[in-house]
Amino acid sequence: MIKKILIANRGEIAIRVIKTCNALGIKSVAIYSDEDVNSKHVKMASESYHIGPPSPAQSYLNMEKIVEAAVNSGSDAIHPGYGFLSENADFADLCEKNKLNFIGPSGKSMRLCGDKMLCKAAMAAAKVPTVPGSPGIVEEVEKALDIAHTIGYPVLLKSVFGGGGRGIRLVHNEKELKQAFDLASGESKAAFGKSALFVEKFLPKIRHIELQLARDKHGNTVHIFERECSIQRRHKKLIEMSPSPVVDQKTRDEIGQLAVNAAIAVDYLNAGTAEFLRLDDGTFYFIEINARLQVEHPVTELVSGLDLVKLQIDIANGKEIPFKQKDLKVNGCAIECRINAEDTFLDFAPSTGRIYDVNIPSGPGVRVDTYLYPGCSVSPYYDSLMAKLITWGQNFEEARQRMQISLSDFYIEGVETAIPLYKTILDTKEFISGDLSTDFLERFKILDRLRDDLKKEASTKSEAALAATLIHSEFLKNKVRTHKEHNVRWKAQLDKN
Ligand code: ADP
Ligand code: ADP
Ligand code: MG
Repeated sequence: MIKKILIANRGEIAIRVIKTCNALGIKSVAIYSDEDVNSKHVKMASESYHIGPPSPAQSYLNMEKIVEAAVNSGSDAIHPGYGFLSENADFADLCEKNKLNFIGPSGKSMRLCGDKMLCKAAMAAAKVPTVPGSPGIVEEVEKALDIAHTIGYPVLLKSVFGGGGRGIRLVHNEKELKQAFDLASGESKAAFGKSALFVEKFLPKIRHIELQLARDKHGNTVHIFERECSIQRRHKKLIEMSPSPVVDQKTRDEIGQLAVNAAIAVDYLNAGTAEFLRLDDGTFYFIEINARLQVEHPVTELVSGLDLVKLQIDIANGKEIPFKQKDLKVNGCAIECRINAEDTFLDFAPSTGRIYDVNIPSGPGVRVDTYLYPGCSVSPYYDSLMAKLITWGQNFEEARQRMQISLSDFYIEGVETAIPLYKTILDTKEFISGDLSTDFLERFKILDRLRDDLKKEASTKSEAALAATLIHSEFLKNKVRTHKEHNVRWKAQLDKN
């Protein structure tokens, strides 16, 4: 039985895992880079190990150092969180070699999931429908042109080992494909270490709907409903919810069975996610399995009443999943907004630095997973996700209203966030009526509507708010690039007013 877990991660997800360790009486071991000496996960863990310089390659991706810390601390298991080494099959194997219980699937299964081509082939064999595209890796541009010609433009060039919404390029015709091919394989090599690409038909106006899965060592497999993650920007999720407004119980049973078949096809173990795209006509296509705990797992926790990290630990301990598919019922509705340190008006560029003040929302049906505290720092070295704001309601409307109130209560001074953008989205009739798609922001001109909302707000609010908005447009007009300059101008304007 697991008594001590080293958490090979940082930020909000490291804290999330520590909370379950505490609840189960399991000791937690944090690791940290020079950049994270004062981070909350380090303060919260039972003990902590310094692991190296800030750059991820020398710290949170340094397998040997991390395994050494696990062995030295007497840990018997490793929880990888998401990102970093969580989907690295070599790391799972290295843990096993060192008699550390890796809380996730086997290296073998992970290799299959991490290679989108191998995974698609396994799905075809299991009769799980996948998006039409190349049957294997496409090495030359001529081959890509052939396939695109057959399946029809537009097509996506996708990195075989891609993730996190990166390594995907849209091309509309032959000319664009010829221009993009070498660039895409170069980017793929730089981001994922391998240049391998494949071609997939680009599906217009789709929804991203995924299923939470769990599978134990005894072969019991369940799905814990769907999450709709269609509000995205450049293939990265911004807002997620469960249930999806277009999934009724019959559809849930059907796609749930597809997801279960997908898990069995890759001999999956532990918690994971099967991602699908849904066309307007109701057809579902499998795209990939994420072999880890998902960023948006809290929405599933709120509608199922489960602790997914506990479930992961139980499965890693060899226990049977303590419920059957028929025992699971969706209770109410949950919505999550990802609070990233990014500037909406600067093309979502990272916005880093000291957090001078923060107010974390709370109340009935409100959950915040975050590493923020007044005085902490948001580092440029790591993912921009600072917090996840999740609200639960007995129905969609209650969850949505709680989200609106909580977004207004969420105050973060020091960096830019998309909180105003989320407030605009949640107020649109399109969001309220569930007319979602992955191109929602473009389709409904959400950034323009955000600008209008901010103008309206500024005209009714205090002088300071007006000044801030003025400065922001001033800022955009003059194409001031750095936040330092922005702040100097802002203060100057405030003084003037
Ligand atoms: P989720 O699928 O849980 O919604 P994301 O796709 O947002 O998660 O990814 C979560 C984090 O993991 C991000 O920091 C992302 O950059 C990282 N990530 C996901 N897949 C990979 C991968 N294959 N390689 C490297 N980083 C990845
Ligand atoms: P990643 O591994 O980076 O998460 P995915 O294959 O899961 O990549 O795709 C991420 C997002 O890209 C999807 O949620 C969707 O918005 C978009 N996407 C992926 N495949 C297609 C497709 N064939 N057609 C249209 N959009 C797609
Ligand atoms: Mg994905």
